[in-house]
Amino acid sequence: MMLPRKVKETAEWKRDSGEFSVITVPAAIISLKTFARIQKDAEKILGAEGAAVLLYEAGKAAGKAWISRFHEEWGLKESEREFIQATEEFYAELGWGKFSIDIEHLTVSIENSFIARGYGKGEAKKPVCHFLCGYNASLITELINTAVDVEEKKCRAKGDRYCEFIAITP
Ligand SMILES: [Zn+2]
Repeated sequence: MMLPRKVKETAEWKRDSGEFSVITVPAAIISLKTFARIQKDAEKILGAEGAAVLLYEAGKAAGKAWISRFHEEWGLKESEREFIQATEEFYAELGWGKFSIDIEHLTVSIENSFIARGYGKGEAKKPVCHFLCGYNASLITELINTAVDVEEKKCRAKGDRYCEFIAITP
């Protein structure tokens, strides 16, 4: 069976056992404030740089697992445009933000990044979306079939209108 693409139609609640899943994947819902709180506490404990590396690597690993699975199982491997559109829609439905993937310029822009929303607009001096940054590294790596890392150049949490992630070509 093909892995479903639509979050809304596949959200499943099992109230008796306290389990939740989307697109058949076990998941849990946490608030943006809670995610931001965990990140802010990690910054206090590990330092800003240590927390950034931790979250970037976590995002990269999650992206690596999921994006390659979507690429295989959504049946869109031959259709880059359609895959990009399906990916943008999927993350919009998850509430991660409004993704715009530009493969020509190896750039991902995200309006309303869930991490920046949790932080609050203009609350930070530097970009804060490290998890999404790592995730986008895996996304671009999968699309161009070349390992890249990604840097967040603009961030809503430091007052920009949207977050912008650019691949650093090796
Ligand atoms: Zn950001």
